[in-house]
Amino acid sequence: MISTIKHSLFGLTTVKSFLLDDGELVLVDTGYSGRCAQNILNAVRKIGRRPDEIKLCLLTHRHFDHVKGLRRLRDLCGFKVAAHQAEAEAITEATGVEVDVRAEDGDFLPFAGGLRIIHMPGHTEGNISLLAGRALIVGDSIRGNRGSLRPPSRRFSEDYGLAIQSVLRLTELDFDEVYVSHGRNIERNGKEQITNLIKRLKM
Ligand SMILES: [Zn+2]
Repeated sequence: MISTIKHSLFGLTTVKSFLLDDGELVLVDTGYSGRCAQNILNAVRKIGRRPDEIKLCLLTHRHFDHVKGLRRLRDLCGFKVAAHQAEAEAITEATGVEVDVRAEDGDFLPFAGGLRIIHMPGHTEGNISLLAGRALIVGDSIRGNRGSLRPPSRRFSEDYGLAIQSVLRLTELDFDEVYVSHGRNIERNGKEQITNLIKRLKM
């Protein structure tokens, strides 16, 4: 089961965290502040669990709205922290927290039923998506848009051309749901939605 936790961002938009529950809990991204951290703790309690049951926190990339809640949560929960190895130093610099698991493309992390790391450089150098069963968590690699999908933000991507190349790779994977950090998640036919997005990108 995956819970989506929404954090208001400047009162204008939202950024999300995801809580994976497969007996043990895995948190994906932390929001940008202590208030986001509190939001996450509330969501954990709401499903009847304790913060110390979060065993791993996986960060999709280094941007502040994904990592700045990390310090407070790690100190409280004591979980291990994972990110792509190319992202680890920037995350430590931004948060003061060491990355325990420096992952690479194709790595399989034995948490919450198994998590496969998909390296998707471009948005940032060590940006990743995550495959958990039939769910693909893409972070900022793709954005939601009222039930369909949009390419990543050109303005906030380090190398937009490379970010698009990374999106093309997603056709190699099998999944149904697509969880995006900004915009609406796709609850079914996610692969079809990504195929449609790629067709539009190639036009
Ligand atoms: Zn980002």
